[in-house]
Amino acid sequence: MGKQPVAQMYFYYSAMNAGKSTTLLQSSFNYQERGMTPLIYTAALDDRYDVGKVSSRIGLQSDAQLFRNETNLYQEITALNEVEKRHCILVDECQFLSKQQVYQLTEVVDKLHIPVLCYGLRTDFLGELFEGSRYLLSWADKLIELKTICHCGRKANMVIRTDEFGNAIAQGEQVAIGGNERYVSVCRQHYKDALGK
Ligand SMILES: [Zn+2]
Repeated sequence: MGKQPVAQMYFYYSAMNAGKSTTLLQSSFNYQERGMTPLIYTAALDDRYDVGKVSSRIGLQSDAQLFRNETNLYQEITALNEVEKRHCILVDECQFLSKQQVYQLTEVVDKLHIPVLCYGLRTDFLGELFEGSRYLLSWADKLIELKTICHCGRKANMVIRTDEFGNAIAQGEQVAIGGNERYVSVCRQHYKDALGK
């Protein structure tokens, strides 16, 4: 019998609108096609729903488990995996994981030997790392950048938050829910220009 491949933790990161959810759902489809069962998570940004959904701009979608601040991902995934064997864990909006939850996911890789693929933003609109992204960058086995481009054609690695009139916002909470804010991916030069730096 061949040696079992070693499970790894992957962090797919990008600015906004780089097709992260599409890539996640494509990955889920590939696993299912090979007769394997993925488990999908996404962030519960508010308490209105019990079941999450990951949907992509090209129309694919899938139900997802929700993670909240208090979710112990190692315990929950261990329990779900006992009911039905899972072959990979896919986490959307992984920038919202806490340090502890990223650690719990490393335990899923190291103790349960299930690969974990995380998809999310690297930095917020102020150019600061999200907590989840900080520890994924530190601890993941593989870092994969999903590229998107600025309106000028250069690689977009920054995100600006704009108000309803399209003006860049230079302060505020890391996560804005609801409201009329929009996010735009831009290159670093246009990020500086937009914020008047
Ligand atoms: Zn640009």
